[in-house]
Amino acid sequence: MGELRMSSDHGALVDTFGRVHRDMRVSLTDRCSLRCTYCMPADFADWIPRDHLLSTDEMMLVLEVATEMGINQMRLTGGEPLLRPDVVDVVRRLTALPNAPKISLTSNGLQLPKLAKDLADAGLERVNVSLDTLDPQRFKEMTHRDRFDDVIAGIEAAKEAGLLPVKVNAVLLRGINDDEAVPLLRHALANDWKLRFIEQMPLDAGGLWARPAMVTADETMKMLTTEFELTPVPGRGSAPAEEFYVDGGPATVGIIASVSRPFCAACDRLRLTADGQFRNCLFAQDETDVMSLVRDESLSEDEIRRGVASILTKVTAAKLPGHGINDPAFIQPTRPMSAIGG
Ligand code: SAM
Repeated sequence: MGELRMSSDHGALVDTFGRVHRDMRVSLTDRCSLRCTYCMPADFADWIPRDHLLSTDEMMLVLEVATEMGINQMRLTGGEPLLRPDVVDVVRRLTALPNAPKISLTSNGLQLPKLAKDLADAGLERVNVSLDTLDPQRFKEMTHRDRFDDVIAGIEAAKEAGLLPVKVNAVLLRGINDDEAVPLLRHALANDWKLRFIEQMPLDAGGLWARPAMVTADETMKMLTTEFELTPVPGRGSAPAEEFYVDGGPATVGIIASVSRPFCAACDRLRLTADGQFRNCLFAQDETDVMSLVRDESLSEDEIRRGVASILTKVTAAKLPGHGINDPAFIQPTRPMSAIGG
């Protein structure tokens, strides 16, 4: 694609705090097949119009420039990324780039029985599947869909396809599923899932998040240590999860304490939304439009590539030191997690 390789012309994506950005979260769609209560209202219908979504060619151009600027890991997300009809092709094209990044994907698992093998063959390395409960009835109440068995089948399909280790993400909600920390970990250990608990963040479309209702990482640890011995795994790097060996290992459990123990100082992530906006943080108030640039017919492809590189440099430079959730002046982003890309 294009005559010019930008990597020789542009430096790495370094912000004013010295953080080097190597990871990009790429939202493939804002649509989802579940309606998790803490993410999307049951009657949510405020979808991005289809012609406002980046086409796959447009997305590839943007992401290729990102790889030339040092992005070497991409996580495909959404909404539900497996609802994008050409998701396998997206993975294949990304892994065929000259500076091919490692590709992982976050999914609700429902389409994995159908797609896991093709995704693995296309070069996908790993999946994270979201599952908050082991109780099918509770699953239905928490997601507004009766699809528990399909998620379990999806996790199994990912394992069979060799997308290992399968990480399973769980959000605990007070009074809803916070009695499941220990059962979820027991089940994860028995089934070779790498379980991670994520603190609930203020990113729901309904603006219903409330700090007292959030199950903190400390509370989760307290529940887990009633049954398991947890010892820290050293060398976290830029990973969101604090990892702990369970009963001496080798199995581990992760805790993502985005709110109570933010890890912004080591953040190396940038985001591209399905409608072509760059964000430098999940909680950023600003987005930078790259869609209009890639659709500008007055520009040559090289001019567009230079423009993408320039936007990425500026977006990175503008990154704040932290997400600010704990500041009194914090304002929840106007777009929900499903539209930003979780
Ligand atoms: N549909 C995919 C899935 O279910 O994993 C990918 C998108 S989803 C937004 C990605 C992750 O964000 C899921 O693990 C989900 O549980 C989590 N999530 C959504 N809203 C959240 C919130 N308000 N706080 C914490 N995690 C949230």
